[in-house]
Amino acid sequence: MKPITLGIVCPCYNEEAVLALSAERLEKIFDQLQQDKKINNNSFVLLVNDGSKDKTWDIISELHAKHTWIRGVNLAHNVGHQNAIMAGMMTAKDWADAVITTDADLQDDVEKCVPQMVDDYMAGYEIVYGVKVSRTADPLMKRLTAQAFYKLQTSMGVNSVFNHADFRLMSNRALEILSRYQERNLYLRGIIPLIGLNSTTVEDEIGERAAGQSKYTLSKMLNLAIDGITSFSVKPIWGIIYMGLAMIIVSIAILVYVLRALIIGTAVSGWASLMLSIWFVGGVLLVAIGGIGIYIGKIYTESKHRPLYNIKEIL
Ligand code: UDP
Ligand code: MG
Repeated sequence: MKPITLGIVCPCYNEEAVLALSAERLEKIFDQLQQDKKINNNSFVLLVNDGSKDKTWDIISELHAKHTWIRGVNLAHNVGHQNAIMAGMMTAKDWADAVITTDADLQDDVEKCVPQMVDDYMAGYEIVYGVKVSRTADPLMKRLTAQAFYKLQTSMGVNSVFNHADFRLMSNRALEILSRYQERNLYLRGIIPLIGLNSTTVEDEIGERAAGQSKYTLSKMLNLAIDGITSFSVKPIWGIIYMGLAMIIVSIAILVYVLRALIIGTAVSGWASLMLSIWFVGGVLLVAIGGIGIYIGKIYTESKHRPLYNIKEIL
């Protein structure tokens, strides 16, 4: 197979401390892949500046002036990790046969995984997911919360790859299909498995951040987690309905209790009807809210205009 044009997209938010180090690491990987005749010299790294407040864009401009294979995109303001990756992929898709996304701090094991991803692409896979096999470099809290979140997601029926973050290769065709998903609350880990096509995984051993600090604040992480569930699942709405039904059942038990109190004469006047109404009306209200929620959920799904199908081959 002919050497391919590879694009590597890195979102960068206040990454002045780490960019030069990352560029060095990527240069070695590119040199090796070119020597092995796997990628051609149109291959590039695309650094997406996500509205950084520090010198990130200046550094990207300097790197580009020094190395023609480093390109940059400067976003007008901070739009967050997911949107920044999307901006990079959509810019790179017309320039490359395959695009790999990885964080600017290169915590992913790019030395091992990038060549494997390229091999998998050459073997016919259109999406290759980097799957974290060890998260020892992540702080304990992050590891635990992330894993609990993956489990919660699965139980909510969201189809995502376990322990995969946004380190992945996508073919030009997979990116073309991704561009048809027009949604605003972007959660790529949920959308990309919806694309279909041949996919595989590589094992990724996460390393420490070489310089600078994590840009993923707790609130950014929570927002991502909420999108990861609410953009794909209406199960939480069913939870409301089940809660309402449970309350209606409890109201039957209360009915028995109230009747008993009335019969033995311990009930104060007015107490019985009040007691029963609270549980029964509460239950009915919850079921009704859940019912409306299901319709709103459908409007939400419709408004995403997701493609109904993606074509793999036509004979
Ligand atoms: N990032 C971004 N926009 C943001 C926050 C983060 O583009 O608003 C980038 C950041 O520069 C990095 C990647 O997203 O390349 C992941 O962030 P980080 O490494 O800080 O997160 P962690 O690895 O700690 O989860
Ligand atoms: Mg990181």
